[in-house]
Amino acid sequence: MQKGKINVQTENIFPIIKKFLYSDHEIFLRELISNAIDASQKLKTLAALGKYNGDISDLTIEVSIDKKKKILCVKDKGIGMTSEEVDKYINQIAFSSAEEFIKKFKTKSEAEMNALIGHFGLGFYSSFMVADKVEIFSKTYKKGGETKAVRWECDGSPEYMMEEGDKKDRGTEVIVHLSEESKEFLEEHRVLELLKKYCKFLPVPIRFGTEKKWEKVEGEKDEKGNDKEIEVEKPRIINNTDPLWKRKPAKLTDEDYKNFYHELYPFTFEEPLFHIHLNVDYPFNLTGILYFPKVKKAFEIQKDKIQLYCNQVFVTDSVEGIVPDFLTLLHGVLDSPDIPLNVSRSFLQSDFNVRKISNHITKKVADKLEEIFKENRKDLESKWDDVKVFIEYGIISEPNFYDRAKKFCLLKNTEGKYFTFGEYEKLIKPAQQDKDGNLIYLYTTNVHEQFSFIESVKERGYDVLQLDGVIDAHFINVLEQKFEKSHFTRVDADTIDKLIKKEEPLPSRLDEEQKKILQELIEKQVDKNKFTVVFETQSEKDLPFMITQPEFMRRMKDMSMLGGGMSYMGELPEHFSLVVNSNSLVISRILLETDPPKQERSLKQLIDLAMLAQNMLKGKELNDFIKRSIDMVKE
Ligand code: ADP
Repeated sequence: MQKGKINVQTENIFPIIKKFLYSDHEIFLRELISNAIDASQKLKTLAALGKYNGDISDLTIEVSIDKKKKILCVKDKGIGMTSEEVDKYINQIAFSSAEEFIKKFKTKSEAEMNALIGHFGLGFYSSFMVADKVEIFSKTYKKGGETKAVRWECDGSPEYMMEEGDKKDRGTEVIVHLSEESKEFLEEHRVLELLKKYCKFLPVPIRFGTEKKWEKVEGEKDEKGNDKEIEVEKPRIINNTDPLWKRKPAKLTDEDYKNFYHELYPFTFEEPLFHIHLNVDYPFNLTGILYFPKVKKAFEIQKDKIQLYCNQVFVTDSVEGIVPDFLTLLHGVLDSPDIPLNVSRSFLQSDFNVRKISNHITKKVADKLEEIFKENRKDLESKWDDVKVFIEYGIISEPNFYDRAKKFCLLKNTEGKYFTFGEYEKLIKPAQQDKDGNLIYLYTTNVHEQFSFIESVKERGYDVLQLDGVIDAHFINVLEQKFEKSHFTRVDADTIDKLIKKEEPLPSRLDEEQKKILQELIEKQVDKNKFTVVFETQSEKDLPFMITQPEFMRRMKDMSMLGGGMSYMGELPEHFSLVVNSNSLVISRILLETDPPKQERSLKQLIDLAMLAQNMLKGKELNDFIKRSIDMVKE
């Protein structure tokens, strides 16, 4: 038997391990299983190289718990270790890397330490977060020289004990004697939950207990003549060792991708819109599958659904800073051994490699969308209403993405037709150019509520876009910056002549004196805080009154409602322009009216009609309007 002191400079590292790493205790299991996987993979490699010719047909890793003995065991059939190797890898190297980690981060706060530990395995020594004592039983795959098994034990003090063991079969078994505070890891459901979280896609089968399954009995039928089935107890294998993202895209069907989506998100019933299979080996290694999920409402959009793996080991599902912000709205998996997980989040964001990976993912996503656009535009159009939020968000948040997306980003008009930016520009030029050469994109945010405005705009031969998405207010701002000499104007932002100013306004029929009288009469009828009276010269036939909401103010309000960094506008009351057509014949007639109550009533009726067109006449006012209308018809 050999006793010794673990090679350690920091005086007793274990209390530090225990103290600092408390919230992420569970990762010890991930670490032990990762080691078991490594040991198994190494053996496979040796066999493939012809350096090992023992049996490797079953490398299943066994996880078990024993409540009575208060132990949790992880047992592999991998390469195992000789006593020299235990000395070298466990007593010295493993410890010094744990020690280095602690030293490096000891100055950080507990919260920071906890955030870090999830991304940086303490390796084997993390088991001391949960253990009073840890034992290793190991037997190497090597024949000849050293074949004796080894037993190692340590109780969380810097002293360890090592002796010859009696393990018969190849591989390593780690026995964790759980401490009183860590009893949770003796519960089957808790361990199962952890295994499902971290090990779902590990490359070597992992067994934990048994599960009941229904199986057909060969040649036997039940009363109804169906194949007879009986319930049998089977080893419970936790993981899918051959996850879809590691397979060759050419051999996979759409069905495979959909099934895998449901494997990843068992509680999501919607089908994904489409997927992107990533496979990069240069200049870094990255595989994965990203899905565009179907989201109906803004509140359903969830970040942090992408799962990040490092060689099939689950690392995190908080991928902010690793993938571009807009892609955090997607679902799926990314697997890369090249993402430096052992550093802090703020470092990640500025890390050159991470930036490269992030840019590359953006590029791949754009490639795929462009390919769908080119090869199957109809398909893209049919999904556009669901997909557009991702692409618009990409355009808003990712400057590089715009240059790619401008080729396939679509705009939809009120007729339900889809256009690329280029196609749409051609469609509305020159009709929608104003006298200064600006191209005016007319849009609606609600086809029903703005119906009468849309109609009158269309009568002029103009086209109207539907920009009714959750982030369209921001999207419009970006497009205005990107498109040269262009403006986006909502159909009800102004009177039809002013939406696209073509020529100098017509002379006014009303003189200043008449305008003043009229203004006073109108202001008696409407709330001055809500409406500003504006005179405009339109044609005689145009409506006498119109309510508009100036584009700039309205958009500010829309943006502030979206939390676009202008929340101080949040309290802004709604404000409208009450536009008077100073060439309207009806208005001239009303001014000539000599009976004041009659004059007032006619004016009120016309203003109400303008309100009605904007869906603003409600409750008592609507009722008054109806009564008044009937009276007027009676007369
Ligand atoms: P890391 O896995 O990051 O190298 P660990 O502290 O977890 O650090 O393990 C240290 C070393 O101990 C490993 O690199 C490996 O050589 C050896 N080791 C640990 N667990 C096993 C195992 N189950 N089978 C064989 N070797 C192991």
